[in-house]
Amino acid sequence: MSEQRWDAIFVGAGITSLACAAMLIKRNPGLRLLVVDKHVVPGGYASTFSRPRQGVTFDCSLHKLSGVAEGGNLIRILRELELDLDLVYPDDYFCAYHDNAALPLANNAEQAEQQLVTRFGHQSQAIATFFEHVRTYGRNGYYQFQMLDGSFEPDMAQLRFAHRNFKHKTVYEVLHELFDDPYLIEILAAPGIYVGGYPEDLGYLYYLHVVYATLNCGNAYIKGSSQRLSNLLVQRVEEADGKIILSTHVDGVLSDGNGNVTGVRTSRGFFNSAHVYINVSPHYALQNLFSLDTGLEATREKLKALKPARSTTTVYLVIDQPPAELGLQHTESMLFADDSAASAELRQAAERSGYDSEPSEQAFWKASPIEVTNYHALDAAGGNVVCLNVLDSIAHWPPRRSPEYRAKKQRAAEALVERLFIHVPGLRGHVIHTEVATPHTYVRFTNNTDGSGYGAMIGTDLKGHGFHHGFPIQGVHFLSAWVAGPSYEAAFGYAEMKAKQWKQV
Ligand SMILES: Cc1cc2nc3c(=O)[nH]c(=O)nc-3n(C[C@H](O)[C@H](O)[C@H](O)COP(=O)(O)OP(=O)(O)OC[C@H]3O[C@@H](n4cnc5c(N)ncnc54)[C@H](O)[C@@H]3O)c2cc1C
Repeated sequence: MSEQRWDAIFVGAGITSLACAAMLIKRNPGLRLLVVDKHVVPGGYASTFSRPRQGVTFDCSLHKLSGVAEGGNLIRILRELELDLDLVYPDDYFCAYHDNAALPLANNAEQAEQQLVTRFGHQSQAIATFFEHVRTYGRNGYYQFQMLDGSFEPDMAQLRFAHRNFKHKTVYEVLHELFDDPYLIEILAAPGIYVGGYPEDLGYLYYLHVVYATLNCGNAYIKGSSQRLSNLLVQRVEEADGKIILSTHVDGVLSDGNGNVTGVRTSRGFFNSAHVYINVSPHYALQNLFSLDTGLEATREKLKALKPARSTTTVYLVIDQPPAELGLQHTESMLFADDSAASAELRQAAERSGYDSEPSEQAFWKASPIEVTNYHALDAAGGNVVCLNVLDSIAHWPPRRSPEYRAKKQRAAEALVERLFIHVPGLRGHVIHTEVATPHTYVRFTNNTDGSGYGAMIGTDLKGHGFHHGFPIQGVHFLSAWVAGPSYEAAFGYAEMKAKQWKQV
């Protein structure tokens, strides 16, 4: 296997790598591409794991593919790649649960707006303003790649207005300027969970584009799970004589001493190429894959400003019958704590405490929203599976394998599942299997910094995001949620852009 030459090598087989490799090969038949991953299955977060005894398959990440209605970026790219995907378009965006009441929001922007006006009549004017922001500034952000290549012409007055008024504001700040109902603010801020940020973390303009992508541009699940998508991309690459090597750790990215990349060193030997695409976290890559004498001080310095998005704690549940029959009707739900006004304050208190255990558990597990996916309702073939996600911080988790870690996992499961039972009491007594993934689990499987599954936090200060500009080793390309932005759609959009930029050395 050693000393082979490839046109490009991808370090990591996450969704961005696989999408880029499939597009490169489609645009340039004959290219010889190699994708190397340390894991046993391809896809990174876009993968699944099974528990045969329970007869279930858990999806590691996907619950919503955005941009899959007509006009969406992702559906256009998927069609271009001619991937044979069966998409499931759910009826709901999500159902909000709070104070013993359920408020379903339709998977359609106009209907969702109307439902919010019906429930929060006293805020109807501000709701209209908010949805107008999504339709204008959110849309401009969504078509950013097309803006760069000239195929989308934004209204310059809108861009200037957004830049002047919102560029430096967080979601928290703008929503509090627009609304005075704390529960409505929590509902509107909830899509931030899809990209790893709470309202106090995320830049408002960026978040508007997330709402536009997921609500206005259609969302869906994939029959057969995220693994089906990853496997189809692998198939595309392999059919064109590319190679995916799994269970192979990349230990180093090599250069010739004159500022040109020459290949990678792996647990299975050396592979040569003048193009190396880095799909792993840039912090991890710079610390572990490049030798210290390669002149990367300036990049390391810039990288200090690139903060990871929040990590996730996930509870995977197996139910003894279809969850809908026990009262979990919707494909996705958001569970909100009773005191909507308190959640941001408690998170800030946890941070001030240095992420002490008790205030952190209170803030992240008990006071912040929980995202619940009823996977059985999306694709019954995976079994009676329900998953609960909260954004979390690795800082209050003890090291893996310690008794404290095991006890904390147990507490996380109890806290999250109890909140589910309060809103959907029919599920009580029907959970037959529980597993917990913590921020440490995410680091272990993907090497993503602090367990962030969403790459970098996209706040109001974007200076760290240009860390790779002027990278001193020619032929090294960064390609992941850390540079593309979180989500499968961003991964495909970025991969498309990188494939268009391909130049043989
Ligand atoms: C809980 C959760 C739910 C999510 N839900 C959604 C959703 O519904 N919709 C959506 O659009 N997005 C969702 N996301 C975000 C989305 O999953 C990610 O943004 C995306 O999958 C990240 O892909 P990536 O290409 O950056 O690579 P990653 O998935 O991070 O993959 C990196 C790969 O590199 C490999 N690797 C690391 N180090 C090495 C090494 N030294 N040698 C070899 N290989 C290595 C890893 O094994 C891994 O396979 C979710 C994320 C999380 C965490």
